[in-house]
Amino acid sequence: EVITVQELANRMAERGADVIKQLMRLGVMATINQSIDADTAELVVQEFGHRLKRVAESDVEIGLEGEVDVDENLEPRAPVVTVMGHVDHGKTSLLDALRSTDVAAGEAGGITQHIGAYQVKLGSGQKITFLDTPGHEAFTAMRARGAKVTDIVVLVVAADDGIMPQTVEAIRHARAAGVPMVVAINKIDKPDANPNKVRQNLLQHEVVVEELGGEVQAIEVSAKSRIGLDKLEEAILLQAEILELRANPNREAAGVVIEAKLDRGRGPVATVLVQKGTLKVGDIFVAGSEWGKVRALLNDRGDQQTEAGPAVPVEVLGLTGTPSAGDDFQVVDSEARAREVTAFRQRRTKEQRAVGTARVSLEQMFSKIKEGQAKELPVVIKADVQGSLEAIVGSLTKMGTDEVQVRILHDAVGGITESDVTLAKASNAPIIAFNVRANKQAREMADHEGVEIRYYSIIYDLVDDVKSALSGLLAPTL
Ligand code: GDP
Repeated sequence: EVITVQELANRMAERGADVIKQLMRLGVMATINQSIDADTAELVVQEFGHRLKRVAESDVEIGLEGEVDVDENLEPRAPVVTVMGHVDHGKTSLLDALRSTDVAAGEAGGITQHIGAYQVKLGSGQKITFLDTPGHEAFTAMRARGAKVTDIVVLVVAADDGIMPQTVEAIRHARAAGVPMVVAINKIDKPDANPNKVRQNLLQHEVVVEELGGEVQAIEVSAKSRIGLDKLEEAILLQAEILELRANPNREAAGVVIEAKLDRGRGPVATVLVQKGTLKVGDIFVAGSEWGKVRALLNDRGDQQTEAGPAVPVEVLGLTGTPSAGDDFQVVDSEARAREVTAFRQRRTKEQRAVGTARVSLEQMFSKIKEGQAKELPVVIKADVQGSLEAIVGSLTKMGTDEVQVRILHDAVGGITESDVTLAKASNAPIIAFNVRANKQAREMADHEGVEIRYYSIIYDLVDDVKSALSGLLAPTL
């Protein structure tokens, strides 16, 4: 018995009555002051769609996130943007160009360092934070670790080259993450640039830009000739306004590790994106399985900072070990607390390694559906030929009911690649392979990440497996 219903409700910022209702659905009768066990609490947390913080019997981590921020404490914060798109379409160039729009960029002493993210301050005083590791690998890897970092994806499409395979992949990743997109049609300085064609072709991937009656902003830019950068930034800020991004700056800091490395001179260094609260020199914190005391905070120009608030990326010195990108970051009260939490996490990691990674399997999804915990079955489908693929996709999409649906994250012809595994992992989806195999890297990665690959050579078997899951084990009607 680890937590009272009231306490659980508080930590999730849900109403006590709703938690009790949810417990009843799970067959547990409890009053607001009664305690429930950790497993039950976990189920409830998942039901509400919250991110799970509990880790074990010891309840070491419950409450690590601190109190929930009430509305009146929230203040507007800068949007956090990731740039994605096909190779050579200008992601890096665009990030460099945008970086130099910072009003402080021209000031003395500034040699920019790559710390994994930077913030620009515009003439208007508004700010935008960019993660400067472009591409969907980093984006998806973060997501796979449970970190939600990006508010907006800027999809870069070269106007002379148009939609390419990685453009489509990026669209898929953004969509799977539920992150809105702003399209940057780049290289419009080129004589063979055809931005209209880009807008048209985006339609085929269900990205409808404003000019064609949709809601997605598409801005023509040239990273090289520095055209349209201000318009792109305006579009990002407009999108951000719609999202109403807010955070409480007046609390202990929490965020995500964007990058971490062991620096020869400085020891372990991590770039942290603060998501709420304000991080200060002297703060004691936990980052993944490591902890530390902030010795110094540096921005992307190497300038010392005394503090960093929401949406601000900073390099943090003072770690006792090197955390991983995607690890959560949290300021705690005391060194004792930091040691307790990290000791616990390190032990847990060891145990998990011994047991093997939790598998993302079709069976597991089925049982989740059965328990009413999942309303959809996400899958990645790869097939040998277009005809089979269409047949499979056709049958699976028709199969859904009001209660459970198959959600196809990605379907394509060809063997299974690492990119498929990353995508599947990020959404806890199995991969369904029809007459195709995984390459060695993908197989190893799937093994390592615990992503199930199910191989089929008869469409009927495949469809039958999925159907029996969906129709035989429907979510109970409540
Ligand atoms: P990434 O692979 O998406 O990061 O692309 P890069 O930023 O490395 O750019 C690929 C190539 O396109 C480089 O040679 C850039 O100089 C060039 N490039 C990038 N943006 C523009 C642009 O706006 N106009 C022109 N003409 N070339 C560009």
